[in-house]
Amino acid sequence: MSIKAPKGTKDILPEEIENWHKIENVAKNVFSKANFKEIRTPIFEDTDLFERGVGDTTDIVNKEMYTFIKSDRSLTLRPENTAGVVRAYLEHNLFRESPPVKLWYKGPMFRYERPQAGRQRQFHQIGVEMFGIQDASADAECILLATEFLKGLGLNDLTVEINSLGCANCRKEYKEQLKKAIAPFLDGLCEDCRNRYEKNPLRILDCKNETCNKLFEENHLKESVSGIKLCDECSSHYEKLKNYLSALNINYVENTFLVRGLDYYTKTVFEIKSNNLGSQNAVCGGGRYDGLVETLGGPSTPAVGWAMGVERLNALIPQINPEKIDYYVVSDNQLEAVKLISYLRNNGFSAEFDYNTRKFAKQLEKASKIAKFAVILGEDEIKNNYYTVKNLHSSVQEKLTKEQLIK
Ligand code: ATP
Ligand code: MG
Repeated sequence: MSIKAPKGTKDILPEEIENWHKIENVAKNVFSKANFKEIRTPIFEDTDLFERGVGDTTDIVNKEMYTFIKSDRSLTLRPENTAGVVRAYLEHNLFRESPPVKLWYKGPMFRYERPQAGRQRQFHQIGVEMFGIQDASADAECILLATEFLKGLGLNDLTVEINSLGCANCRKEYKEQLKKAIAPFLDGLCEDCRNRYEKNPLRILDCKNETCNKLFEENHLKESVSGIKLCDECSSHYEKLKNYLSALNINYVENTFLVRGLDYYTKTVFEIKSNNLGSQNAVCGGGRYDGLVETLGGPSTPAVGWAMGVERLNALIPQINPEKIDYYVVSDNQLEAVKLISYLRNNGFSAEFDYNTRKFAKQLEKASKIAKFAVILGEDEIKNNYYTVKNLHSSVQEKLTKEQLIK
């Protein structure tokens, strides 16, 4: 049997690559305008980093990690990039720079999930992280950047949902409230939720299981809990964020049940959802994680960031056709043809010729598929030192000198 790409992975073929280039270029332009610098970290890290950094009560760490042992060391393919970026930030003492430190990344992530539309086992994320700023202006800057990026891709039909999870203190009471409300129907919930009940009850709100969601509805879970009661500091941070967003004309919806799947968030969390994707409709998820740098052994450092799923973005933008090359040289003299393409390339044009010297008609047929212009280099042209150039769009043909060819 022939070998296929592993389940949950996808080849990105040349016919699709223009979309990826566009997404990456828009990201680079938008982020550099805001003075965010790109960072590239390894695709695998010590397993410990994710256990501590992502949290051992999360699905990612419990069920989804690709972990392997080499020379007695447990390593894991990164399921996300925030932990790796924080590790690099600490390892290279970036915290000594005057804040903020603003970074962005792109690349593949790996999670052992059930593959379906919008959900793969190897997928790609583009994300930003901003370290060192406590004020809600940093949260606003990150959300602004996400909306500018999406706008740059021509995406508008999106909803920004925000919430504040407060600090550990704010959450304590809410956790108890939630547990009390859930207790009567706990036995009907999925195994994950029953585990979360003790370890991390907030995460129950993020469950994707249909049975659980039905039970929440039937038991009016959402109506029976008041939401997190924020302490003064967290509450003023949240109000400030909303003021910034309004001032920036960013439309947002408050969703008091937005909790996000990772353990490290504090205060602000947000998601950007598309109205044009099926059930995997979140294109962006992020929030503030003021405790993570310290958890990973660094100085206490406020931080905020987000990640977008590139496959989900790609599903929303129209397919861009590969660009045609500038010149296709049509000739039966390979030596002259190869010299000409070299000349054209050296002068900044893209150019190709027929390596097989097929009949002119065949060569022209190929040219019209892949190039903007055909340069015909026949016996007469070579003898009399000129080039017949055919515009393959308009079919207009003219005779040009070597100098005119590159103008
Ligand atoms: P979801 O709720 O869809 O599982 P998540 O909360 O696990 O998302 P994050 O870890 O915050 O997602 O990742 C940010 C973004 O990365 C998501 O909004 C989504 O667009 C994308 N993403 C996450 N997991 C996958 C996956 N398995 N395949 C494709 N894209 C993904
Ligand atoms: Mg997930």
